[in-house]
This record gives sequence, C-alpha cells and structure tokens, in this order.
Amino acid sequence: MPGNSYLDPKSALEHLKTYSRSDGLSVAELMDSRVHGGLTYNDFLLLPGKIDFPASDVLTESRITRNVVLKTPFMSSPMDTVTEGEMAIAMALLGGIGVIHHNQSAESQAAMVRAVKRHENGFITDPVVLSPTHLVEDVLDIKARLGFCGIPITDSGVLGGKLVGIVTARDIQFRDPVTPLSQVMTTDLVTAQQGITLTQANDILRDSKKGKLPIIDSNGALISLLARSDLLKNQSYPLASKNPESKQLYAAAAIGTRPSDRERLAALVDAGLDIVILDSSQGNSVFQIDMIHWIKSTYPHIEIIAGNVVTREQAASLIAAGVDGLRVGMGSGSICITQEVMAVGRPQATAVYAVAEFASKFGVPVIADGGISNVGHIVKALALGAGAVMMGGLLAGTEEAPGEYFYHEGKRVKAYRGMGSLEAMEQGQAVKSKGGRGKYPSPQKFNNVENAATSRYFSESSAVKVAQGVSGDVQDKGSVKAFLPYLYVGVQHSFQDLGVKSISQLRSGVEAGDVRFELRTASAQVEGGVHGLNSYTKRLFA
Ligand code: GDP
Ligand code: GDP
Ligand code: 5GP
Repeated sequence: MPGNSYLDPKSALEHLKTYSRSDGLSVAELMDSRVHGGLTYNDFLLLPGKIDFPASDVLTESRITRNVVLKTPFMSSPMDTVTEGEMAIAMALLGGIGVIHHNQSAESQAAMVRAVKRHENGFITDPVVLSPTHLVEDVLDIKARLGFCGIPITDSGVLGGKLVGIVTARDIQFRDPVTPLSQVMTTDLVTAQQGITLTQANDILRDSKKGKLPIIDSNGALISLLARSDLLKNQSYPLASKNPESKQLYAAAAIGTRPSDRERLAALVDAGLDIVILDSSQGNSVFQIDMIHWIKSTYPHIEIIAGNVVTREQAASLIAAGVDGLRVGMGSGSICITQEVMAVGRPQATAVYAVAEFASKFGVPVIADGGISNVGHIVKALALGAGAVMMGGLLAGTEEAPGEYFYHEGKRVKAYRGMGSLEAMEQGQAVKSKGGRGKYPSPQKFNNVENAATSRYFSESSAVKVAQGVSGDVQDKGSVKAFLPYLYVGVQHSFQDLGVKSISQLRSGVEAGDVRFELRTASAQVEGGVHGLNSYTKRLFA
C-alpha cells in the first residue's frame, strides 16, 4: 500500500531484540524492597513465555540439600497434624519428602523413621529371620508389628545362618498358632548367589513367580532378601525419593537444639535417618550453630537443614556453620501469629528471594516454608530460587495426615494447628523428658538455658506461654496420593505457560532476566480471582 510506514511483520522477532521497552520486571527490579516493600506470593505474577513442548515433558527435579535431589519439589511440614509415618511414606513414594515431627517421644519418632526406611527396598540387607523352632504365632506377631510375613528361616534363626526354608502368608493361614515353623515352611527354594546385581536378581524374582528371593553365599548362608512387592512399588511410583544404592525411601525428621535432642538424633540415625531438620522459628542462634557443628562431627553422612531464616545475615551464620539446606519463612504460615505477636518476620516472597539469592552462591538449597496455598504459590517460590516448598495447611486435610476426620458446620474436616499454638505446646509438655524444645519456645527458656536443658518441664511449669500459632481445622482433601499428583501436573502446566522445561531452566531464565515478573495491584488481585458470579463451585482437579 502506498505510504505504508509499517515495519515488515517478518522482522518482529528481530526488532524485539533491540526494542527499547520490555515487558514486566526482572526479579531484581521486582524484589527491590526499597521501592515495593516486602512482597507476598499474591503480590506478583510471572509473564508467559513460548510453548513449544507438551506439559508432560517438564521435569521438576530439584535439589533440597547439597546431596539430596528429589523428582518433585514437595515437602510436608514437621507438624503433629501433618507428618507422621504414613504421610512421610506417601510423600516419598510420590517424589517428595515428609518431615516427621518431634512433638512426640524419641522412640515413637524413630519408629516412624524406621517404617519409612523399611517400606521399600532393593536388597533387604537386614531381613527379619526366624528359626525352625519358632512358632506360627511369632510370624503373626511380626506381621502385626511390621506389616510383612515373608520370613526366611535359618538354622540359627539369624541372618548369616544356613538358609533352610521360607515362611510366607499362605504357609501360616489356618494353622494353629503354636505350630513350629519347621512343619509349615517351604524348603524347595529359589535362591540367588551373593554378588548378583539388583537387576539380575530382579529378573530371577520376576521369572520365578515367587514372592521373595533369598540371596545366599557359597555355603548356603543367608545374606539378604528381595521382595516382589518392591518391584511393584518401583513400577507404581516412578518418582519415588530413594537412596540410589539401597533403593530405600529417604527419611527426614525434625529435632530441636537441646542437649536431649542429641539423644533423640542418635535414635533417629539408628533408625536410618537421612535428613535432619533443626526446627526453630528463628534459626540464627548459638544453639543451632553448636548443634550443626556437633552433628557434622558426629554424623557426617546426615544432611542438615537448618532454619528458619528470612534474611541474608541469618542465612550467612548457618551457611558458615556448615548446613546443607536452609528453611525459609517466618510468620507466613497459615496458622501463624508470629508477625502479629512478635512483630518479627518478613513477607514470604521477599524472604525466599533474599535467602535463595545469597545461599545459591554457596551451593546451599533453600526450602520455601509456609504460606503455600495453591499451585501458583509453588511456582512462584521456585521462580524466586527455592529448591522445594514445604506445606502444612495444604496437606493437613489429607487422609495420610494424623488424626481423624470430623464434621464442622456441615463440612468434613481434620484438625490443623500451629506448633506454637497453646494446644501443641501443651501436648509437647506431656511428652516426657525426651521431648524436643518446641519450635516456638517461650522466652523463659532462653533466659535459663541450663535449667531448660536439665529440667525443662519443671522450670517451665510456672512460665507464661506466649502462643505463636492458632488451632483450627481444614477441609477434607482426600488422599495425598491424588492431591500431590495434582500439584505435580499443575506445576508442569504452569512451566509450560512460562516456556521453561525444568526448574533449572526456570532459574537460569529468571537470573538472565528472560523470565519476567509483574506486580499486581489490589484490583489486579481481584481481577485474577473468580468474580462477578452469583455462585460457583471450585473443583480443583479430577
Ligand atoms: P531406576 O531406573 O530408577 O529404577 O534405578 P536403577 O537403574 O538403578 O535400577 C536398577 C534396577 O533396580 C532396575 O532393575 C530397577 O527396576 C530396580 N529397582 C529400582 N528400585 C527398586 C526397588 O525399590 N526394589 C527393587 N527390588 N528393585 C528396584
Ligand atoms: P510379605 O509377603 O508379607 O512379606 O509382604 P510384602 O512382600 O507384600 O511386603 C514386604 C515389604 O516390606 C517390602 O516392601 C519389603 O521391602 C519390606 N520389608 C522391609 N523389611 C523387611 C523384612 O525384614 N522382611 C520382609 N519380608 N519384608 C521387608
Ligand atoms: P502453612 O503451609 O500451613 O502455611 O505453614 C506451615 C508452616 O508454618 C510450618 O512448616 C512451620 O514453619 C510454620 N508453623 C507451624 N506452626 C507454627 C506456629 O505455631 N507459629 C508459626 N509462626 N509458624 C508455624
């Protein structure tokens, strides 16, 4: 057309490279708190990128400590209404990790760690073994306590004895409980020799159609055991968080920083613990630094996540002490009143960005803890540099969380309470002697640390307890086995919109300024929510 001064459309992409305006803000511009103040996840959005791959191509693999990589960046909080054994097992099977709380005795916490470690195996190197003179009732007892009853039988009744038979569920069905195992065990065994690889052993197990494959040495002594059900678990849970060698699920648990927590940790390590979380609302303390030094010298193989922190300065102390990961958040949790009562804390998005930006220089991953209430919050935390998110309230209504469902105002709910609520602190006191210092200690305990260390409950009996959390309930969310896959697929779709295929690509895109952010005004937040309807139902996944 004559007089047309438009640029050639084909040059649009080329033109963009030198264009003087760009959309949105870089992360550094967004997070300039002198200009915008401290931000929460709801205060900003990410701008879309270009889609040239299916959402299922997105990998969410991420590092949560120096040496532990998960296939999904999801963690459950160490809270007594969120994570006990069942949640920890489910989280690990689904590719995340559950942190077992310490508002209970060291013994019961260690039993939960043991259950996680026993749940799935490659070679079971310490199988429960019995002798021919044991009785059917001994097997029933093991079944009741540990949940399995495929028991190899050796002449001595211990691992390393000569393998003489195996007892499985069907051998003991309909039998008198006092029948000796010699009368019921199967003696015609399919076995494999020591030194075989896991892949070869799995092939034999598959072909044999048996439930168990005992591994023996050249003298016929029992070395280890393989279970068919583990092959199934491996198939059913391809994302599971497992130690690459043992194929056991990763186990994580929280402790405090009192001297008695050293005994607690010993019990947890004995049960097979991989990751310890030092649980404090303000992690930059001499107690935590001492504990980190002690753990690193006593159990160098244990990964330590310390915290909580929200500033670079707090992080620097703990990084210098030698931590493997940092937990970030103060006052952002859904049950939390810390910011209101203590006047201390930081808006969570700003906290995650500040700590992650600093810690990444030292190779220390950070976990965005608290305030996660939807998939979008997870993606924002990852974009700001978090290696994983930790969730309490979002998971507390699932079947795997401790506690029973009940009805409140016509809705099916489960109890959810802050660990700094009076209710949780009172429960902690009922756990005698071995209990950890709660994450939210009352100030008196700091005034008299020696006293707190030697007789915490006596010295505390007259103390005024200042609550930092509330107690309430959350709605039924069904099984975490359906809910976590929803979060996972939700994150994949979000990444597709962003045009990034992995967490590491997201991070490098953010650092390079290619992934852009936009602040949301108050009215933008209203616009971004459902509005203008007379009524609606919000179903999140099917
Ligand atoms: P994978 O590809 O992540 O399963 O891990 P590897 O390549 O190291 O697997 C080696 C072999 O171990 C393969 O035959 C896997 O199927 C098998 N495997 C993986 N996890 C388990 C498990 O928990 N138990 C058993 N028995 N085998 C497993
Ligand atoms: P069983 O047939 O009753 O023994 O039970 P399954 O084979 O269905 O389940 C056994 C599960 O428990 C597998 O995942 C094993 O890895 C795990 N497990 C952990 N420790 C042991 C053990 O000492 N003996 C057996 N039989 N299984 C164990
Ligand atoms: P949510 O996912 O429910 O938003 O937050 C869970 C997180 O809140 C936990 O992981 C923990 O860091 C924090 N938290 C748990 N209990 C309390 C409490 O009583 N007070 C405060 N301030 N934070 C808590």
